[in-house]
Amino acid sequence: MDFFTHKNGELFAEDCKISQIASNVGTPFYCYSQKTIERHFRIFDDVFAGIAHTTCYAMKANPNPAIMKVLAKLGAGADIVSGGELEVAIKAGINPNKIVYSGVGKTKAEIKLALEHNILQLNIESEAELDSINEVAGELNCKARIAFRVNPDVDAQTHEKISTGKKENKFGIEWQEAVSLYHKASKMNYVDVTGIDVHIGSQLLKLEPFAEAFQKVRELVLELKQIGINIKNIDLGGGLGIHYQDGEKTPELYDYAQVIKRAIGDLGCNVILEPGRVIMGNAGILVTKVIYTKKTATKNFVIIDAAMNDLIRPALYSAFHKISLVKSPDANKPKQKCDIVGPVCESSDCFVKDYDFYDCDNDELLYISSAGAYGSAMSSTYNSRPLVPEILASGSDYSIIRRRPNYEEMHLLEEVPEWL
Ligand SMILES: *Cc1c(COP(=O)(O)O)cnc(C)c1O
Repeated sequence: MDFFTHKNGELFAEDCKISQIASNVGTPFYCYSQKTIERHFRIFDDVFAGIAHTTCYAMKANPNPAIMKVLAKLGAGADIVSGGELEVAIKAGINPNKIVYSGVGKTKAEIKLALEHNILQLNIESEAELDSINEVAGELNCKARIAFRVNPDVDAQTHEKISTGKKENKFGIEWQEAVSLYHKASKMNYVDVTGIDVHIGSQLLKLEPFAEAFQKVRELVLELKQIGINIKNIDLGGGLGIHYQDGEKTPELYDYAQVIKRAIGDLGCNVILEPGRVIMGNAGILVTKVIYTKKTATKNFVIIDAAMNDLIRPALYSAFHKISLVKSPDANKPKQKCDIVGPVCESSDCFVKDYDFYDCDNDELLYISSAGAYGSAMSSTYNSRPLVPEILASGSDYSIIRRRPNYEEMHLLEEVPEWL
């Protein structure tokens, strides 16, 4: 459930009129609803109330400092993937004791930063990384709390580009290697083996792949126990799918929690969860304006001022995002099939093809739904387009949590050599 609703024919984010924000900040812009973020986090966290757990928001979904502050105030932890994210999380007030660090390529500088902040756990993805962590922890004369991310070779049944748990994916250590690596780690001077971790992919719409992966984790935890290695934290990653299309069936949170309880509920471990998309996806929209419409012999195009650099998911993953009118249409407003496209010079800069949509006027306001996760976070300045503003709505107030840079600011880091 979210708090983007039409009232008297106009779209509101909570009690903020979208057309009003648009006339103040200009389009395109992202708009998030604080109440929706809070609701999503609470519902997720509450469903695990019966078991010891730490909910670590996967901040790569949306790392805006204001969003991080909203979540920090709710007691959220963070799943980070870089030193940059660590800095933002700490600054937002996330407790370091609730921060886990994921990713296949942590540099020594990043490992050092994580150890200096004494975060909960580093999730290791290779033997080489284990050696690096032991070395850096040795230099700091501390013990690094570590888990191995295991690759369970499970098909997540999601888009190939967001699938991470098959043996051909770059993620995690191979199943067969796990026990010997745990054994090696347990003998090292500067690591403290605390956990196990699995994350099989994103936007999962079925629970069976989770069940399969978690069952394998269970077996490994029991096997490790037999050789004297006691796992404290079981990190089950994120990946729960959300609906992008009307009527799309997504797993119930309650059922997801049951899958977890059934697999590992009796092991007496702390469960770490890393939800990203389920918290932020439907808590944000991208508001845009029609620039032109264009008719050719075979197609109708609606050209909008948002583009693939602002929201790359359709171009990158063939993802569908629903597009709607900000002002509710009259009952008799004509419709036709059209492609809704951005201004970027790429044919892949297309949000939807052959979409059954209203005849649009120039300057008409539209909004793209489910854009709160992996939207702004993945944006770029391709075609020298400025990053778009981000707005946080809360009740009848809204705040610009990232403003639009002007052209000069966009180029502040660039330098033309003297010899030119
Ligand atoms: C991306 C990622 C997540 C979050 O995935 P969602 O699908 O957004 O829930 C969690 N854990 C790891 C290791 C990730 O890479």
